[in-house]
Amino acid sequence: MADHITSVLDKYPDYEATIGMEVHVQLTTNTKIFCSCPNSIAQDPNSNICPICAGYPGTLPMLNEKVVDFAILAGLATNSTINANSAFDRKHYFYPDLPKNFQITQQAEPICTDGFVAIRLEDGSTKKVNLIRIHIEEDAGKNIHSNHSNESFVDLNRAGTPLLEIVSYPDISTSDEVRRYLKTLRSIVQYLGICTGNMEEGSFRADTNISVRKKGQKELGTKCELKNINSFKFIVDATEHELERQITILEEGGKVRSETRLWNSKERTTTVMRSKEETADYRFFQEPDLPIIHITTQRLEQAKASMPELPAAKFERFIAECGLTDYEADILIEDIDLAHYFDAARAHSTSKNLINWILRDLVGYLKEEKVELANCKVTPERLAQLVNLVDQGVINTPTGKEVLMFVAQTDKDPMTIIEEKGLKQIGSVDELDAMVQEIIAVNPKQVAEYRSGKDKLFGFFVGQMMQKTKGKGNTQLINDLVKKYLNQ
Ligand SMILES: [Zn+2]
Repeated sequence: MADHITSVLDKYPDYEATIGMEVHVQLTTNTKIFCSCPNSIAQDPNSNICPICAGYPGTLPMLNEKVVDFAILAGLATNSTINANSAFDRKHYFYPDLPKNFQITQQAEPICTDGFVAIRLEDGSTKKVNLIRIHIEEDAGKNIHSNHSNESFVDLNRAGTPLLEIVSYPDISTSDEVRRYLKTLRSIVQYLGICTGNMEEGSFRADTNISVRKKGQKELGTKCELKNINSFKFIVDATEHELERQITILEEGGKVRSETRLWNSKERTTTVMRSKEETADYRFFQEPDLPIIHITTQRLEQAKASMPELPAAKFERFIAECGLTDYEADILIEDIDLAHYFDAARAHSTSKNLINWILRDLVGYLKEEKVELANCKVTPERLAQLVNLVDQGVINTPTGKEVLMFVAQTDKDPMTIIEEKGLKQIGSVDELDAMVQEIIAVNPKQVAEYRSGKDKLFGFFVGQMMQKTKGKGNTQLINDLVKKYLNQ
């Protein structure tokens, strides 16, 4: 992960921050939560709705069981208690994008409670962030405010999209921990295959509850909530800004007001969205149209058996079994596609050099050419073949890099390209040995100059060898031989 972030807290050592997170995870089920509308992004407003998700009177919701399966997986992956019985509640409020005038959520009896997420800190130690609960709920539609006129529109396509809300205790103490917590949680839901984790599209969004207090003070400070920020960087920036704002108020003898604030990333400041002095009364009551969710032991066992390898376990394995550094393992883990690519390539090559070819050459190529890994013609198997061919000395490293480009452009196997283009390394040890001796013999002047201290001339002899072998000689071997004869 990134380097140490200097925090505003460094400037105020008397203060500490307590931060709790509420994360909304949009689930990737095929259909919506209470109807059979596809759970996908539709272009035309209100084109992906039915009487249920549009909240017509007299309609009845039908629970999508896949949502429960996904919630169980999220609960297991976060060490939560999966409650045998949980129930839905109506949360009442009026807003144009919520046509029923209530949201179906879980209030009194959520599906998961008392979990924790272990995050790895900058110094390599781990910290537990405890979870209050994970509950299931439906998303609302969207209000769209016109830029050109004084009108607002309602698009209900998103209404009924299944969500999990993951609520933590205020166990987080710095903006760096906020980032690490969110990245860890996002990896978990991505590895479980229950959420895309795309923050820009709002599939993974976080509300941050921040308060500060003097160290040693028992009761928590008054908290402010930062709403829906769509990138890790913005969340860190907004958290830092909010910590400084609250500390400054307290330092000046003022009081922090409980409010919801919005982050403006252009002006790098937060503004009040609404005051929270009066807690809204949502008049919760149990949803009468949906049965209790009862989770049998058998269902729980099935979910346990279907759990994929989670990011923390993968990280440990990459280091212990594959010999990667923390840094290399971190880069792979953060990108689930790259982690799977490495695993797939490693099935065909156990070379120590594999990771370098992936992180340096493959990732470099993808960035340069703006190609998605999924569309890249350098499949894991092909890259593994290429690395093995270099390791075996069939081609040298510079030729290997060339072959990688040809594979990416032509969709052919490395060996086919090497044969078609005659790229095999030339020269056995004996042949190269003879060539070096010949070059030494015909360049007595340069040999003498080198031996009298002109070290730079070493490159001249290697260059001569490269010409003779048309760049296809084993570079390491050539270097060794040139050194051997020049130092005689
Ligand atoms: Zn529907």
